[in-house]
Amino acid sequence: MTGISRTGLARPVIRPSPRRLEVYTARHLPAIPELARLDPDHRFAMEVVARVLPFRVNRYVIEELIDWGRVPEDPVFRLTFPQPGMLEPEDFRRIAALLRRGAPEAEIAAAVAAVRARLNPHPAGQRRLNVPRLQGRRLQGLQHKYRETVLFFPAQGQTCHSYCSFCFRWPQFVGERELRFAERDAASLQAYLRAHPEVTDLLVTGGDPMVMRTQHLAAYLEPLLTPAFAHVTDIRIGTKALSFWPFRFLTDPDADALLRLFERIVAAGRHLAVMAHVNHPQELESEAAREAIARIRATGAEIRTQAPLLRHINDDPAVWARMWREQVRLGMIPYYMFVERDTGARRYFELPLARAHAIYREAIARVSGLARTVRGPSMSATPGKVEVQGVAEVAGERVFVLRFLQARDPDWLHRPFFARYDAEATWLDQLRPAFGEAEFFFEPGLRAMAARAGAA
Ligand SMILES: *Cc1c(COP(=O)(O)O)cnc(C)c1O
Ligand code: SF4
Repeated sequence: MTGISRTGLARPVIRPSPRRLEVYTARHLPAIPELARLDPDHRFAMEVVARVLPFRVNRYVIEELIDWGRVPEDPVFRLTFPQPGMLEPEDFRRIAALLRRGAPEAEIAAAVAAVRARLNPHPAGQRRLNVPRLQGRRLQGLQHKYRETVLFFPAQGQTCHSYCSFCFRWPQFVGERELRFAERDAASLQAYLRAHPEVTDLLVTGGDPMVMRTQHLAAYLEPLLTPAFAHVTDIRIGTKALSFWPFRFLTDPDADALLRLFERIVAAGRHLAVMAHVNHPQELESEAAREAIARIRATGAEIRTQAPLLRHINDDPAVWARMWREQVRLGMIPYYMFVERDTGARRYFELPLARAHAIYREAIARVSGLARTVRGPSMSATPGKVEVQGVAEVAGERVFVLRFLQARDPDWLHRPFFARYDAEATWLDQLRPAFGEAEFFFEPGLRAMAARAGAA
């Protein structure tokens, strides 16, 4: 906030006092003073669930995002703290019984591993179909599913400032190293991008890449600003730090260096987008979050927002409408509404697709065109991102109208296709083609791709 950078000049800066990231994990649950107000059964249930699913929360989230007067219903509380309903009743009883009788750690660990294995730790063919190769070597820290966009998982960015209780990346947070995507080698990233001139977008993701030191992020990104990588016109950074740790952009020791890096990326003629994950408008109410948004925007970076639709947290059109309006007012661009993925604690969070679409439609109807940039509800499934466009009556049959917003084969994009209406279905694999057809139009192509991946 000194010197002559655009960030410094753009507006007077209110510098909040620096804060240190104080984090609690499952071991510390009993030591969080705010939880004392919950009844002992609820607290015990949280410990049971935290044995299976990742838990990590910091004091900023506890003090400034959660409304403790509304706990346990508070949305940010449910977003970050384990809740009794997040495990199947049978699994819950098993782990609870082991903890109650003080079973040996090894026995608990074995039971926990069995429960985790049942939670579909790798949805949507991520391992088998998306990990690319370079000269025969599998690049574990990259995913290349859609032609234009490469996902990059830097090794230093594979945790988060807090964890979301619904996160589909949960397996990597519970320490299963073999399930972890990560790359520490900037040279592999560069070699892959050099070999793939069709790639226009690099999406740095995690975990949360904003847990990384700026110098590490710069080591990956600066080389890409040279003419050899002119084809990589767009750089996106997926993060929840605006919600979970806005001080990353304000007062952390290398916060200013980060904003300078953003400015250099923009000055190099690249489009820089911070893809902010925001589940609830409450996350944007703090002074620190607003200041962080302003500082990022002053670098010339854009902020686009995305989030899944979650039962118990944001399954209300009024919440989405308020959130999108607020985002637009703050200069952010609403981008995606996702359907909760088919993994982890999905039973707690999932909603029927019909309900998801109704919420989207009602919310969209309440905002101006500037917020109608948001697409969805979209399922990130094995063949691609499938949007539920609506429910219609065609030739006497009630159907879902669907389309690909992203597809493994670009030829599948934006072709309307139809599934039999099903009031209960929550995911693509539960839908059947309409009009008596045997399969969806993309299925033969997808089978052929899977066969090629298996043979490779
Ligand atoms: C969503 C996603 C992208 C980006 O898709 P856009 O439509 O360009 O936002 C890229 N790769 C994967 C694997 C994705 O899930
Ligand atoms: S911040 Fe993102 S990666 Fe981290 S737990 Fe939440 S959803 Fe998952």
